[in-house]
Amino acid sequence: MGDGTVVTPDLDFVKSLKSSGADTVKRCYQCATCSAVCSLTPPDDPFPRREMSMAQWGLKADLAADPNIWLCHNCNECTKYCPRGARPGDVLAVLRKQAITENAFPGFLAKIVGEPKLLILTFLIPIVLFLLILNATGHLNIPDGPVVYDHFFPIHYVDPIFLTSATFVFISFVISISRFWKNLNTNPHKLMAEGNLVKSIVETLKEFLLHKKFEKCTVNKDRTWAHRFVFFGFLGLFITTNWAVFYIYVLGWHSPYRVDDPAILALFNGSKELVVLCYLAFKGFGNLSALALFIGAVLIFNNKAKDKGFVTKMSAFDSSFNVVVMLLFITGILSELLRWGNVANIAYPMYFAHLVFVFYTIAFLPFTKLAHMVYRTTAIVYAKMANKD
Ligand code: SF4
Ligand code: SF4
Repeated sequence: MGDGTVVTPDLDFVKSLKSSGADTVKRCYQCATCSAVCSLTPPDDPFPRREMSMAQWGLKADLAADPNIWLCHNCNECTKYCPRGARPGDVLAVLRKQAITENAFPGFLAKIVGEPKLLILTFLIPIVLFLLILNATGHLNIPDGPVVYDHFFPIHYVDPIFLTSATFVFISFVISISRFWKNLNTNPHKLMAEGNLVKSIVETLKEFLLHKKFEKCTVNKDRTWAHRFVFFGFLGLFITTNWAVFYIYVLGWHSPYRVDDPAILALFNGSKELVVLCYLAFKGFGNLSALALFIGAVLIFNNKAKDKGFVTKMSAFDSSFNVVVMLLFITGILSELLRWGNVANIAYPMYFAHLVFVFYTIAFLPFTKLAHMVYRTTAIVYAKMANKD
């Protein structure tokens, strides 16, 4: 008799998968219909049948080393045709969420952000922080006069908070993605990544920008546009933020809505029209990006509502992030309208709420649904380098 391989199921891991939304995982009887219908699976290493088996056995380490769970774009073609209702697409989504939590640094924060029941706690962190800062600096009141947000929460307090958050996000991603890459690259059953890194990154980014893989899915086609809106919305807001940094810290244009600032007029050869144009371009681009984000979030909810959970179930983790995206947009637009309308009593609290949602989106980025962008990019780069894509 040959030596057998001893497999020890990690029952706690299986339990945690089931409680996170993969409650159907045990129904799978390994017929492989899912792998046959998946339009994204590579022919020489098909998914998601094998991943379903690994999840049933609780093979946590093997799943952590498996880039396949990230090559899946959650179209749920497999879920539609699974004869056992095991919902492999949703199981893979839960595995991705688990991978983020397992690799994340610091782990305790990932656990808090990853638990929708604790969502309120994640809002309390910026609320308490902002209140303490406003109180300590004597700004915990509604300023007199026309609504100017800088008078309530000065930009020189806001910027260090978000700069520190961005630095934290960078460090957290460096540590988390290093762990993730190490996991991917230690699986003895797979090729070690050895291809051209730069070429793989360029190809992956092209795929991302064009959303080509989404178009391959037929069951859930509407998802492509929803995803495009969300992706380009966030990209636009990222560009807008850097645009604002350029205006404020490079040009010294501290109040972009004050187009008659003599110092700024001097920068534009005294042309007020040019100043107005630059201001409108900045504002317009930012608002369009926010609108794209909102449309994407609405489309995501709309698609799920049309589907009624038949093909795709939306996890609490996904829907809570979607709600935050909508609140980010709504509070942002209302802050702008209320400033124009000079309704100070509502404008300042609305701006405060908007900053709370901005903080959530930026500071907790390595642990929310948005972290997918970084993990998926890494896994696809790895897969390309290992010739698995
Ligand atoms: S998940 Fe469904 S389709 Fe896939 S192997 Fe299991 S039972 Fe078959
Ligand atoms: S959800 Fe779509 S991409 Fe993912 S395994 Fe199923 S069929 Fe393939």
